[in-house]
Amino acid sequence: MAVRKIVIFPAEILEQECETVTLFDKKLSKLLDDMYETMIEFDGVGLAAPQINIKKQIAIVDIDDEHGTMELINPVVLETSGEQTGPEGCLSFPGVYGEVTRPNYVKVRAQNRKGQTFEIEAEEFLARAILHEIDHLHGVLFTTKVLKYMEEADLEELNQE
Ligand SMILES: [Zn+2]
Repeated sequence: MAVRKIVIFPAEILEQECETVTLFDKKLSKLLDDMYETMIEFDGVGLAAPQINIKKQIAIVDIDDEHGTMELINPVVLETSGEQTGPEGCLSFPGVYGEVTRPNYVKVRAQNRKGQTFEIEAEEFLARAILHEIDHLHGVLFTTKVLKYMEEADLEELNQE
């Protein structure tokens, strides 16, 4: 495994639609392992492939709970409900934090590294993290959704995606 370099805003790749993954091979597994190592190295709760300069629909999320690491390949949001507002950060925006409103519940269909399709449901912070990463795969950055920017000192807990 290897820690990859994080793409910092502004960068064209962060605002582009990513391509669908069609090949579920060893290279994809290696990429996912590298993404995991990179996310841990930079203390993030999620990472999307464009953040390491790869324009593909691949994201991982790990908020350090019982769900473990979720690998989301070609994820599609099937359903959302409710609303939550809370602080968000992003590894591609060092030192930038802001309040973002997102659905409180999400149901997603995605594929795993073997190409098998699965569905997951998530609520609260996990839903926020998943939706943040899926946005990345469509070139949508959290800064386009920030209601109010926050100082790092205002945050009790730093969760970067
Ligand atoms: Zn992000």
